Parts: sequence; C-alpha cells; structure tokens
Amino acid sequence: MGPKIYTETDHRIKSGDVDKDALEVIFRLKSAGHTAYLVGGGVRDLLLQKQPKDFDISTSARPEQIRELFGRRCLLIGQRFRLAHVRMGNKVLEVSTFRAGDASSSSLILSDNRWGTPEEDVLRRDFTINALFYDPTTHTVLDYVGGYDDIHHRLLRSIGDPSARFKQDPVRMIRLLKFRARFGFEVEQKCERALHSCQEEILKSAPARVLEEVFKMLESGYAANFFTLMSQSCFLEILFPCFHHFFCGPSKEIAFGYLDIIDKMQQESGKTLDRAELLAALVFPILEQELIALSEDRQMALNFGDIMHLTNSLLRGITTSSFAHFPKKIVAITHNILTAQYRLTPLSGRPRFHARFSSQHDFRLALNFLNIRSQLNPDLQELYLGWKKAHHQ
Ligand code: ATP
Ligand code: MG
Repeated sequence: MGPKIYTETDHRIKSGDVDKDALEVIFRLKSAGHTAYLVGGGVRDLLLQKQPKDFDISTSARPEQIRELFGRRCLLIGQRFRLAHVRMGNKVLEVSTFRAGDASSSSLILSDNRWGTPEEDVLRRDFTINALFYDPTTHTVLDYVGGYDDIHHRLLRSIGDPSARFKQDPVRMIRLLKFRARFGFEVEQKCERALHSCQEEILKSAPARVLEEVFKMLESGYAANFFTLMSQSCFLEILFPCFHHFFCGPSKEIAFGYLDIIDKMQQESGKTLDRAELLAALVFPILEQELIALSEDRQMALNFGDIMHLTNSLLRGITTSSFAHFPKKIVAITHNILTAQYRLTPLSGRPRFHARFSSQHDFRLALNFLNIRSQLNPDLQELYLGWKKAHHQ
C-alpha cells in the first residue's frame, strides 16, 4: 500500500520554514535523477510548529553517488551506519541512503547498511512521529505508518513490535524518554510495557550513544523532565548509579533545582551551556553534601586541599560506576569548574578577587557556574557580580 499523502492545506508547512541549504541539497539530488526527501526530526518539529534543530535528508542515492555529486563538500562517515555529511557554509547536513531493516528480528543490530526503498527506510525508523517524509517539490508529507495522526493525537508509538525494536537497538528506549520529556506525549501501552520488560537490554548498547542522548537532553531545556522519567523507569539506576542515589534520595529537590535552572537558562537564551558546566550541575550538589559530611566527621574546617581531594574522588567514583564513561577532557574541565567554586565563594573568609585561575576559559565557565548557583541562592548574587566586575577590569 502506498503512503497517505498530506497536502499544504492539511499540514501547513511553508517552504520558507525549511532550511534553504537542506532544500538545495534535495534539489541537487533530484536533478541528478535520485529521489530525496526531508525526513525525521525536522519534519516532526515543523508539524509541531517548533524550530527544528537539524534537517536530515533521505535519498535513493548511494553514499558514493552523494560524494560524486557534492565532491569535497561531502564526507562519508560511520561504519555501523554509513552516511554522508554535506557541508553547506558552516552547516553540516546528514544525508542517508534509504535502507532496509528487519522490523521483526529481535537481535541486536550491529550494522545497518542494507539499501532499500523509501517504504523500507520508513519501517526501520524508531517511532511513527519520526518516520514522515516531506517532499519540497510537491509540498506534500508522505506517511506510511500513521505518524501524522500520532503527532496530532500526541502519541508516541514505535514502528513494529516495540519489544523487538528495543532489543534490536536499546538506545531507542532512551530516545522514547527523550521525546516524552520534550513533547509531553502519551506513550502507547504496548510500548510502555516493552520499556519495562526490556530495561536491562540497555547494557548491550554502545555507551557513547547513550551518553550522547543524555548530553543532548541536558542541553535541551527539558533535562528535569528527562531525569524524572529516567529515574522513574530505573534507567538512571542502571546507567548512572551515583546520580540515581542522589536524584532519588533526600536531596532530590536540590538536584532537580539545578536541572530546573539549567533548563530555564538555556530555554531563555536559546544557547546551549558547555557540557562541562552541565556535568558540573549534576555533580556540584553532591559535592556540597559530601563536603558537609566530611567536615562534620572531622569536626574541623576543610582546606582547599581537602576540596581538591574530595572533588577528585567523587568524579572518579561517578566515572567508574557509570555505564557510559564521560570523556576525560570534559571531566577535567568539570573538575576545574567545581574546585574554582571554593575560590569564588570560599567556605570561610572573604574571596580574594585577584585569585589566580588555571585559564581564562575555565575561569569564564566557573564564573558562569557561580551565576547558575546564584539563581538558586540569591545570597550569592552580590559575590557573583563582584567577580564579574573584577574580571572585566
Ligand atoms: P532530535 O530532534 O533530537 O535531533 P531526531 O528524531 O531528529 O531528534 P536524530 O538522532 O537526529 O533524532 O535522528 C534522525 C532520524 O533518524 C530520527 O528522526 C529517526 O527517524 C531516525 N533514527 C534515529 N535514531 C534511530 C534509532 N536508534 N533507530 C531507528 N531510527 C532512528
Ligand atoms: Mg535530528
């Protein structure tokens, strides 16, 4: 059966809403005789009247043919999932060849490079809301799986049997939580049940992919919703036991307080915070609590050496106990941001506004993190402004 076709009067996507570079890539592919559509998150977000983060393109052209067409502007990447990155100005567009999957198989996908038809390409995608094609030449939306109605009914539904699809690629479970956190959609019951029964499968997935989805969510402005869902569905416990301990314990409110602030800041500015700052927002409240416990234990004030030592061992504990290891470079900067807090706002005495910092870059991040803290604790506002002024002099 062919797709359901929605015209401009139904879907109301205006061609002006679509990224010009994405249109140019599609038209180039088409004029070379290939089929090409806009697909995935870009189409979904346009239908939801949200600003798409990126525009992905799906085409009948093989990776080598895409490279031939775009020459040096095209880079072929990926082993498990081969695809082309086409550079247009300072933007990179993902162009992938239609591929066929096996929706009913329950074995882990190790490679996904079997070429297929547009319909097969739709059927190997994760959720119906992500499986719509937009054809900019006819201004139509093509729907093989009922995704158009699901978007309008605000329903998350997996394509095919959810438990088979989660076993094939367990990262889809984290993606389900991501869309739920971002859009507040209902989840189809079958899918919800599969999420519980397949939980442990997540340990078979590639840690770097899981971590990428988590960082994307910390950057999204919906991190608090996402962490709530991650802890309710036990993924936090399985993947990040240290954070689980904190997000589900008596300090839950403080932990979520930090997420609320980073969500608000990023939503208001439209810019993402540095990943080291985002990690610091998860770790700082834990560090504060551990410092209090240590000084109560010792019954004496802590010095900067104690703070350095505790920060080190806390970050090491988090890194080694987590399923996905945070990149070393990010952890090193997070360490600097965290320890710098105790120079910016010392545990005792007044801060010395001329204190030395390891680098201007880290100082800027540390100062920005003090700003995050001062949004939660207005008593810190004055100190933050003092440092900001000293920094600009
Ligand atoms: P975002 O707005 O976060 O970018 P997205 O849905 O666009 O969300 P991408 O990672 O950019 O997510 O993927 C683009 C498209 O590729 C998805 O919309 C979906 O159709 C397909 N896709 C991505 N990951 C998977 C997966 N694990 N399994 C099946 N299809 C996937
Ligand atoms: Mg996308």
